[in-house]
Amino acid sequence: MRILLLAATTGYQTRAFGEAAERLGVDLVFATDRCDMLEDPWQDRALAIRFYDEAGSVATILEAAARSPIDGVIAVGDRPTVIAARAMKALGLPWHPRSAAAVARNKRAAREHFAAAGLPTPPFIEGTRDDDVKHFARVGFPLVVKPLALSGSRGVMRADNERDLGAALSRIKTLLASSDIRAERHDAHKLVLVEQFIEGREFAVEALMNRGTVDVLTIFDKPDPLDGPFFEETLYITPSSASAETRAAIVRTITEACAALGLYHGPIHAECRVNDRGVFVLEVAARPIGGLCARALRFVRRAPPSSDAVAPAPGPGGPNSVPGTEISFEELLVRHALGEESTVWEREASASGVMMIPIPKRGIYRGVSGLDAARAVPGVVDVRLTAKLDQLLLPLPEGSSYLGFIFARAARADDVEVALRTAHAQLTFTIAQEMRVLQSTHG
Ligand code: ADP
Repeated sequence: MRILLLAATTGYQTRAFGEAAERLGVDLVFATDRCDMLEDPWQDRALAIRFYDEAGSVATILEAAARSPIDGVIAVGDRPTVIAARAMKALGLPWHPRSAAAVARNKRAAREHFAAAGLPTPPFIEGTRDDDVKHFARVGFPLVVKPLALSGSRGVMRADNERDLGAALSRIKTLLASSDIRAERHDAHKLVLVEQFIEGREFAVEALMNRGTVDVLTIFDKPDPLDGPFFEETLYITPSSASAETRAAIVRTITEACAALGLYHGPIHAECRVNDRGVFVLEVAARPIGGLCARALRFVRRAPPSSDAVAPAPGPGGPNSVPGTEISFEELLVRHALGEESTVWEREASASGVMMIPIPKRGIYRGVSGLDAARAVPGVVDVRLTAKLDQLLLPLPEGSSYLGFIFARAARADDVEVALRTAHAQLTFTIAQEMRVLQSTHG
């Protein structure tokens, strides 16, 4: 069997997919966004595609499939989802349709589909980054401004009045003019969406769709308040402490949102806010949770339905988590891409969580102390720093990365949260002021 892995970079997650494939005896063929002028520059036999060139990328994939058949696809990140959809259709394999993958990537189009399906939706207005403040202020304050085609909360800002709104729009203008964003050559990059701020608790949902049916794998609590002005994610903790009723409402609404977008088969990652007016879906992406965060998820085989009437119903994590029998989220995704039903698996019994370590200020990363103490905190499974020494750190709204990740597991979700916060408190980061070189333009 052979799986096509479409990824923007070859980072941690692609290695985790590689390990999962090896365990399962499956071949992985990578397709990454890079120039094909050099023959196999990274010696990984990856197909060189360009995410902005959909038709060309699909043609490259189909040529590769003609040489050696492809049995499934995994798309990492938002950008390759549309290419994955087109390639799977051409190969006659089940996946999300192209139109659904495209709508899921476009915040305005997604909002319109949610509203048309009768899902709770905040008032919103689209415009260009150059439109007047008055044009957007009509949605009413407080509101949230977001560049249409960015992700990872990059450029997303709350504004409580016209002055905030003007400042947010000019920050977005500068951000959208940066070279890394222009290199993506995405038409929607000129556009911004402004929508009313939704109060409430925020949750993330990880699910797999099996030919139209949504199988929610887990609901993550985001226990840190996300009230702006920027929306930096820090903690993801599962199982959720929300009431059974709230969790059921989240599952119901996310299922309706997937149907509204036309998503059909493959991973989805959704975010929602819950208040007394209902469940507001912020977004449903046609891809799994990104990068290292996926390490917070492990799965075990679901116990077969018992004929014994007194057998306990499988709870969150299920009764049969035997240490050593867990599989990684990446392995679950590889199995699913090969045609296995996700419902055979469920999340492990223990509570689990990750802290995405926020960048406290702009500057040059010079190092960290307290790592050993952080790793020694009971419940902490791993502390992984991803910032590179001497790297320029950019906090939100301009940047979109983290200093690193802390992982914890415990019997109870509360203990996971305490472990993550305690470990974070052990870490001291040195961030030096950036040197600004003033260039002389004489002569
Ligand atoms: P991205 O795809 O860049 O992550 P989102 O639309 O998911 O952008 O927004 C990022 C974060 O901003 C959300 O997780 C949420 O915390 C906050 N946010 C976005 N829209 C709203 C809104 N209408 N009301 C309140 N918070 C919002």
